[in-house]
Amino acid sequence: MQETDVLIIGAGVTGVSAGLELARRGRKALIVERREVGAGASGNNAGSCAVQNKPVPLVPLARDAVEIWKALHEELLREGLDLDYTRLGGFRLAESPQEVEALRKSAEYQQSIGVPIEHLSGDEARRRAPYLGPAIAAANWCPNDGYCDVLHAMKALAGAFVRRGGQIWTHTDAIGADPKGDGFLVVTSRGPICARQVFVAGGTWMRDLTGPLAPPAPVTVRINVLTVTPRVATVFPHMITHISHKLTMKQLPVGTIMVGGGWQGGGDYHTYKGEPSFASLVGNWQMAVRAIPALAHLDVLRTWAAFDGRMPDEQPIVGELPQTPGAFVAGYASGGWTLGPLLARCVVTMMCGDATPEIIAPFSPRRFAQTPAST
Ligand SMILES: Cc1cc2nc3c(=O)[nH]c(=O)nc-3n(C[C@H](O)[C@H](O)[C@H](O)COP(=O)(O)OP(=O)(O)OC[C@H]3O[C@@H](n4cnc5c(N)ncnc54)[C@H](O)[C@@H]3O)c2cc1C
Repeated sequence: MQETDVLIIGAGVTGVSAGLELARRGRKALIVERREVGAGASGNNAGSCAVQNKPVPLVPLARDAVEIWKALHEELLREGLDLDYTRLGGFRLAESPQEVEALRKSAEYQQSIGVPIEHLSGDEARRRAPYLGPAIAAANWCPNDGYCDVLHAMKALAGAFVRRGGQIWTHTDAIGADPKGDGFLVVTSRGPICARQVFVAGGTWMRDLTGPLAPPAPVTVRINVLTVTPRVATVFPHMITHISHKLTMKQLPVGTIMVGGGWQGGGDYHTYKGEPSFASLVGNWQMAVRAIPALAHLDVLRTWAAFDGRMPDEQPIVGELPQTPGAFVAGYASGGWTLGPLLARCVVTMMCGDATPEIIAPFSPRRFAQTPAST
């Protein structure tokens, strides 16, 4: 029978980053993935690695997460693996007076926890970024905002894990697990696997796991719509977000402009097939063009929708599953691409017997211990 020290369910950014961290610590890890590496949200998301656009409780995590991205990027580049991580700073925009006030308060809070933020008037922002339109009444500037090309990043992360001795079994479904001896017997579509610890990093789809690996509370599915333009000459180099949380934009090094921000589509997560909604597309692009009027003349090359999950309190879960000692979980973060490597590193710290990192303590799955789990 196949044996491993840690069995990881899911080859998204969280699972693969955890594998990489375990390999660094000399532990044997096997990832089982139902489809392909990055088949879930991680290979289909917008790749924003911004600090300042996260919900308030997650800003300290994002502040630290982008430093992990930077270090990972430099480490992997030295061995010829490119995460395609770009950090040229970002503007978070406001249009209405209420948004301007919210943006100013957000700058004050973020400065107080050590995020480098400048609050600018619309005119000050336009002097630095002449591509911004007249509708922009204020902007916060953060030099640490960035973005990735997620397809390149997932390939590089998985490559680094395998180079360090990790194994990824694609097209392998984790069906369930039972405690056995001082570990688990995990049932998969390729046969049983013995593991001392299990890390559930299955994104949206882990809501379907039952028994010892079930999430500790019901998970809501979100279906986010994205669009990209064809490759064009540089229009803007920065990460662009909006205080309303309904706009993210970046122009990737290859020239394509990606527009998103959480507008919702349809589809069925069981089939991994999302359906973009025309209304969302229009709403998203109206905002994009107000922010950067030069985008009005561009075509949309491709649009898609992909799946993400949320816990009932909209906060991530990170830590040991209350019902199953030895089984850990991480996921359901708003900004889960940005936070994935940090959440993974925190979980690995706990799996290795070190104290729970203070920064993730509020997100323990134990906070749902009284809520009956369901899907
Ligand atoms: C359209 C969209 C845009 C987004 N944009 C951004 C952004 O710009 N910036 C940002 O920070 N965040 C963004 N997010 C959120 C982010 O993409 C996710 O939070 C993050 O990728 C989740 O990573 P994960 O590894 O936890 O899960 P996933 O990437 O979903 O990976 C889970 C994997 O587990 C596999 N799996 C599940 N169950 C099983 C099983 N039983 N057996 C085997 N394999 C299994 C799945 O096939 C999947 O590959 C976006 C999300 C979406 C949907």
